[in-house]
Amino acid sequence: MTAINPRLNFSPDTWAQLTYMCKAASTEIGCFAITTPENNLYVEELWFPKQQCTAATVEFDDESIADMLEDLSEKYPPEECFRIWIHTHPGNSASPSGTDEQTFSNILGKFDWAVMAILAKGGQTYARIQHKTPFSLETEQVEYPIEMGVWKDGYQEWDNILETQVSTPKVYQTGKAYYGGVSGNYDRSLWNPYSYDDDNYYNIGSKNAKPK
Ligand SMILES: [Zn+2]
Repeated sequence: MTAINPRLNFSPDTWAQLTYMCKAASTEIGCFAITTPENNLYVEELWFPKQQCTAATVEFDDESIADMLEDLSEKYPPEECFRIWIHTHPGNSASPSGTDEQTFSNILGKFDWAVMAILAKGGQTYARIQHKTPFSLETEQVEYPIEMGVWKDGYQEWDNILETQVSTPKVYQTGKAYYGGVSGNYDRSLWNPYSYDDDNYYNIGSKNAKPK
């Protein structure tokens, strides 16, 4: 059996949203993830029930969770919208507190599998998956930490924009140094032995060829 390393991946938008809201709030904030049918650990959207928060706790309004889940259930099966609980810590540590463990177990503990994920304002992350052991005679929980963060290949679309839409101006060798006009990186091509004329500066494949 091959070892698997599940990772909780966020789309660039959801990762930006979570990090922004984490930094903007002075308290903890909590939410749940909406994932894709193909990958239940790929977070495509976040939903935020009403909640009362302090610097160390998030207390969800049960009625709000129920209402929002009812709406969500028209579009998503529970596995895609109610298995991953995410919250932020306003400090530097992403370690779960006793209250976090309690909340996790209260809200999602009864399901076959669930994830608790924490992002701290200082950037630290913590994520843990737990699931019931299949084929076990007794009901046992297996749990282990997993990595979390923005989907590693998630910037492809933005990379593509850079690749197709952004290029450097054509530079003609005059033999004379030219200091006017453009500044920054573009100037360097005047001194550079390489020709970047038709080569896209941001081309992913030629990143290593970029002038230092
Ligand atoms: Zn916490």
